[in-house]
Amino acid sequence: MIETHTHSFFSFDGKADIQAMINRAVELGVEYYCVTDHFDYDYKLLPDYQHVRQIDLPAYLARMNELKKQYPFFHLGCELGYSKGAIPLYMELPFDQFDYVLNSVHTVGQWDAYNPKYYVGKSKYEAYKGYLDKIRESLEVPYPYNTVSHIGYVRKNAPYEDKNLYYDDFKEELDGILKRIVELDKALEINSKLDNDQFMPEKDILSRYYELGGRKITYATDSHEPSRLGHNFQLAEKMASEIGFTHWTVFVKQKPVAIPFQPHKK
Ligand SMILES: [Zn+2]
Ligand SMILES: [Zn+2]
Repeated sequence: MIETHTHSFFSFDGKADIQAMINRAVELGVEYYCVTDHFDYDYKLLPDYQHVRQIDLPAYLARMNELKKQYPFFHLGCELGYSKGAIPLYMELPFDQFDYVLNSVHTVGQWDAYNPKYYVGKSKYEAYKGYLDKIRESLEVPYPYNTVSHIGYVRKNAPYEDKNLYYDDFKEELDGILKRIVELDKALEINSKLDNDQFMPEKDILSRYYELGGRKITYATDSHEPSRLGHNFQLAEKMASEIGFTHWTVFVKQKPVAIPFQPHKK
């Protein structure tokens, strides 16, 4: 089993000490585990989020590097919340210290898309399109990154009856994103939390990515606590293999490493 996207107390919304997360990873017998605490420099520029606690970078690097020496499967990553204004801040990061960099979109305009206020006065189409346009923009950042994380984050707290993000509703936007991910040779994250029986992104979007030549996918729970580590791993692997994917991709010193799927029991 692998686990590429997780958080600890170093993130403002973390719920666990990293040692507790690692202990659980050991119990699960993980081959690869990566901690990717939040760098929400996009928040620094927004009045309603400026108070949010930012990561203590020197302490984070010191603690995680110590653990890397102890646990060979353990890797050090970061999740960078994109906004155009935050680019110069991210450019200052010591990227050579990270095994793995996640490029995420959380904020669109004044709000985190998880905040109910984001949807006020917007149709589902407007809310989702605004978010997808921001992802398309985020792919062009000048700093290094490996994976585009949780496409569909906008649906997590959406007030619409059918929250799913359908490929057919946003063909142009999603094709633009998926083609660019393939061109740039980045990976696409599969977030294993099920919502209406769908992972994030939905299966039709993952199939389209495959059709466009995308082969690098990552498995992620985005766990903020030990109990969710490894959630739906087998199911995610089965779904991905039905589409045609044959392996997961993980990153070590920001270089891709293929982890073949297990043969499926009949
Ligand atoms: Zn995120
Ligand atoms: Zn995350």
